[in-house]
Amino acid sequence: MSITIALAGNPNCGKSTLFNALTGSNQYVGNWPGVTVEKKIGSYKKDKEVKITDLPGIYSLSPYTLEEVVSREYLINEKPDVIVDVVDASNIERNLYLSTQLSELGIPMIIALNMMDIVEKNGDKINVRQLSADLGCPVIEISALRNKNIDKVIEEARKAVGRNYQPIDVFDEQVEEYLNEIEKSVGKIQFSNHSRWYAIKLFENDEKATESLNLSANEKTDVESVIAKAEAELDDDGEGIITDARYTYISSIVANTVKKGRTGLTASDKADRILTNRFLAIPIFVAIMFFVYYIAVTIVGGPVTDWVNDVFFGEIIGGGVGSLLESAKVAPWVNSLVVDGIIGGVGGVLGFLPIIATLYLLMAILEDIGYMSRIAFILDRIFRRFGLSGKSFIPILIGTGCSVPGVMATRTIENENDRRMTIMVASFMPCGAKTEIIALFAASVFAGRKGWWFAPLCYFIGIIAVVISGVILKKTRKFAGDPAPFVMELPEYHIPTVTNVLRTTWDRIKAFIIKAGTVILLATIIIWFLQNVSTSFEFVEFSNESHSLLEAMGRAIAPIFSPIGFGDWTSTVATIGGLAAKEVVVSTFGVVAGLGGDVGADTPSMIEYTTAAFTTVSALSFMVFNQLCVPCFAAVGAIREEMNDARWTWFTVIYQCLFAYGMALMVFQFGSVLVLGKSPNIWTAVAGLVLIIFIYLLVRKPKNLSDVEVKRAVSEN
Ligand code: GDP
Ligand code: MG
Repeated sequence: MSITIALAGNPNCGKSTLFNALTGSNQYVGNWPGVTVEKKIGSYKKDKEVKITDLPGIYSLSPYTLEEVVSREYLINEKPDVIVDVVDASNIERNLYLSTQLSELGIPMIIALNMMDIVEKNGDKINVRQLSADLGCPVIEISALRNKNIDKVIEEARKAVGRNYQPIDVFDEQVEEYLNEIEKSVGKIQFSNHSRWYAIKLFENDEKATESLNLSANEKTDVESVIAKAEAELDDDGEGIITDARYTYISSIVANTVKKGRTGLTASDKADRILTNRFLAIPIFVAIMFFVYYIAVTIVGGPVTDWVNDVFFGEIIGGGVGSLLESAKVAPWVNSLVVDGIIGGVGGVLGFLPIIATLYLLMAILEDIGYMSRIAFILDRIFRRFGLSGKSFIPILIGTGCSVPGVMATRTIENENDRRMTIMVASFMPCGAKTEIIALFAASVFAGRKGWWFAPLCYFIGIIAVVISGVILKKTRKFAGDPAPFVMELPEYHIPTVTNVLRTTWDRIKAFIIKAGTVILLATIIIWFLQNVSTSFEFVEFSNESHSLLEAMGRAIAPIFSPIGFGDWTSTVATIGGLAAKEVVVSTFGVVAGLGGDVGADTPSMIEYTTAAFTTVSALSFMVFNQLCVPCFAAVGAIREEMNDARWTWFTVIYQCLFAYGMALMVFQFGSVLVLGKSPNIWTAVAGLVLIIFIYLLVRKPKNLSDVEVKRAVSEN
């Protein structure tokens, strides 16, 4: 028999872990129709007839966030057969708040009491039988992470299908009476499956939830009179009465069934004393990120990437295919297209795969052990002073892998302003593809100059760009107001789970490889073509004097970039190509440097090409521009989708371009004078002006401080 199960629960209660464990990898991720909240559907590994939906993480079913609305609409309209309420047993009190609401929907519900391993480790005791009796529904102790008892969840869910389900008995007689009266006066809800739910929503005056009922005028007055009576008798509004009742009920349940073991600090708390310490947290975070990039870019990057580039793609693939094509006597241009164009370009990108894979792996470990959630929390404490919310940092941290999921992760931010602002800045972080550019410079221009700091520097440039933009944007009228408060469960630290870490890493690597085989392949072919066709539209073997179409285009655009230090046509073409995908920046250098055709370890390679083409200052400026300017097409697409507005998308794109240009201009102009000892010129003055403008934007008074103050004063009186 085919059944549908909805997984519901608080954020971070382990829903996704349970979902992955139950469904394995056969899952479908999409958006809910019409809105951009993530939707995951999969089928049970051991029985494909059991369909499982992972609902967004929520704290309640009130209408305050998109996730809450999506969840309740799904539950009411799609009518899953069973709700599996995932409860974090180590945070049971908070989690049960949602459980009481879920049970009111009238859909059979079972509770999966997750994280029991932590409860046991802490020495706490939960009387599950009592809990199950009190709540009137099956309660199954599980550990999604350790794969314990999870099949039992499905077993119980099957048994619950079609069972007549009674909501958790939360309310005392008095409130119960009000709700009954409402049910009676609104005939159409009396016999619906969701009568209790609608009665409460009417009592709470939650218009969004009840507008579909189309109450008649009579029904409305009846409901209003019940509410008026309750408010007079209990001296609180409907919503307050209901909330209060829930809390009272939950604390009595918890007092009845949960016994805290030792009350001292857990190992996780002790670790947090150091890792989230007021003074140590940031230095430790900086050190960890240095270490991560050091391992990826310097240790793995150096030898492995050299080998992959020079030996694997250069000699084995490039040389092998080259001689194969030669012996097959194909036209020289075919040989050139395959060896120089495709192998040089796509190979140049894939050559960085070891670095990217290492970076993704280390990030996945930091995420899995629970460190990254702490960072969001620590940064919240600090960046709140700059008007940014810690919630913004989750998308930004995810953006360090790839901007597309980073931008999409902004969905968890309910405040519209905070959300738009986060979308605008999330792509400033060095994503995997930008890390290639970093690695290329680290191995060339900054090699041997103790350039190990270059990669982490780019990471912190990203963070600084986010902060500066945050401050600047906050001062405009559009973005004014305090950031929304940041609430988040901090999961206990735990040993990373191999499958989780590998799954996350592999998902990200896969996306990267697919991109290399599609967008980047296409881009390298176009670049090769433009490079080997002259301005008079004849095939020309590429050389310095060949005057290709590519060169002509590059030269036409290059003057725009000369004030920021890379006005040569190759870098221009690379930068433009980078808009398709940032990997194209590197692959353009690969094609132009003739990486694929150069067989042998001692022939000039991309590294040498780059070393010759850039100085330290122009390399840094190139990096800053490419990192901060508009991300790839895919990310712009995600921005468009999340902004859901063309004007905001354009504003974002233009803001990012101007911001990147201004920053790169300052880096190059001041760097030329201060580091390279060049004499100042007119552009130095322009850079000075840009600096003054930035400082002004940073320190000026917020645009509508007075408005905000007025509003506050009004609401306080
Ligand atoms: P979601 O937000 O509800 O989807 O939660 P996740 O599945 O992403 O889990 C949040 C965190 O809790 C992750 O770090 C998981 O590894 C961890 N976690 C999930 N289930 C368990 C469990 O049973 N025991 C422990 N110790 N950790 C868990
Ligand atoms: Mg999740």
